[in-house]
Amino acid sequence: MAYNITLIPGDGIGPEVIESARKVIDATGVNISWESVEAGAIAKKNLGTPLPNYAINSIKKNKIVLKGPITTPIGEGFRSVNVTLRQKLDLFANIRPIKSYEGIKSLHDDVDFIIVRENTEDLYSGIEHMVGEDAAESIKIITRKASERICRFAFELARKEGRKKVTLVHKANIMKLSDGLFLKCGKKIAEEYTDIEFEDIIVDAMSMKLVQNPQDYDLIVAPNLYGDILSDLSAGLVGGLGLAPGANIGEDIAIFESVHGSAPDIAGKNIANPISAILSGAMMLKYIGELEAASKVERALANTIKDERKLTADLGGTFGTEQFTEEIISNI
Ligand code: NAD
Repeated sequence: MAYNITLIPGDGIGPEVIESARKVIDATGVNISWESVEAGAIAKKNLGTPLPNYAINSIKKNKIVLKGPITTPIGEGFRSVNVTLRQKLDLFANIRPIKSYEGIKSLHDDVDFIIVRENTEDLYSGIEHMVGEDAAESIKIITRKASERICRFAFELARKEGRKKVTLVHKANIMKLSDGLFLKCGKKIAEEYTDIEFEDIIVDAMSMKLVQNPQDYDLIVAPNLYGDILSDLSAGLVGGLGLAPGANIGEDIAIFESVHGSAPDIAGKNIANPISAILSGAMMLKYIGELEAASKVERALANTIKDERKLTADLGGTFGTEQFTEEIISNI
C-alpha cells in the first residue's frame, strides 16, 4: 500500500531534522509519497503568507502530516501557524509519549507512559479581559463534549497501545464545576472500558508522584493546562525536550511533530538533534498502522544512542545530524 503524506519542513532546523526523519522512515521500506509544502516564516518570505492555501489543501487531502517546527514572531508579525492549524483542523488531542532510553542521561530508568492532553479549551480558550485597571479575568471553559471526546480518545489509545491503566488529572477539589465536569466525564467513559484500570489524581499530587515514581503511570489524560505543564515536566524526567516527539490529532487529520522549536541559533549547521523528529515519524507510522516499521525505527534509534559518542552535540556526542541519521539507517 502507498501512502500520501504531507511534509512541512518548517523553519530553522526544521528542514534538517525533517529530512533526517524522512530518510529514516523511507529506510523502513514503507511506501510513502511525500508532498512537501511550505509553511511558516519561509512561506511568508517566499509566498507572502505563513500558511498558504495549497498547504492547507494538501493537509486536508492527505490527512497525515509530518511537520517541522515553525518560527512564531514574538509580539508582532503573523499569528502562530501552530495554533491556527490546531484550531482550523480541530486537532483536539495532543499526544506526548514519554520514554527513557539507555544512553540518554535521565532522572529515571524504565519510564514509558503517554500523556493525552485536551487541546482546544480550558484556560487556553483565549477569553480574557481587564476588570477595571487593577484586575484581570481569564475564563476557563470545560465542556462535556470536549471532555468526553478526549477521555474516549485516551481509552481507545490505551487499548490500541496495550496500556493497562488510565490516570485522569484534575483539581476538582477546588474547581468543583469545571474540573468536576472533566472528572465526571472521565468516570462515565471509564465505565465503558472495563478492561482498563482507571484512577484520578489531583494535579499537585501528580506532579510530585511523577517526579518520584514515573514508572507507576501508563497513560495520563488531562485538561489543556495541566497536560501542557505535566508534558514538559515529564520530558524533563527522560532527557529533555530535544528527545520528545508529539502529535496533534483530530477526528480524521493528524499532524506529527517534535516538541522543540525551530532553534534558529543552530540552524543550517548540521548539528541539530533529529531524535524528536524521528520519534514523531515513528508515532506517525504507528498511527497509519505500520507497526512493524515503527518498531524498526524505535529499535534502530535505541541501538544507536546506546553509544554516547554517536549522539549529537546537545547530548554530549560528536555526530552531526547527517552522520547520526546514516547511523540509524544502518541499524534498521
Ligand atoms: P527551541 O526549542 O527552538 O530552542 C530552545 C533551545 O534548545 C535552543 O538553544 C536550541 O538550540 C535548543 N534546541 C531545540 N531543538 C534542538 C534540537 N533538535 N537539537 C539541538 N538543540 C535543540 O525554542 P525557542 O528558542 O523558544 O523557539 C524558537 C522558535 O521556535 C520560536 O519562534 C518559537 O515560537 C518556535 N516554536 C515552534 C514550535 C512548533 O512549531 N511546534 C514549538 C516550540 C517553539
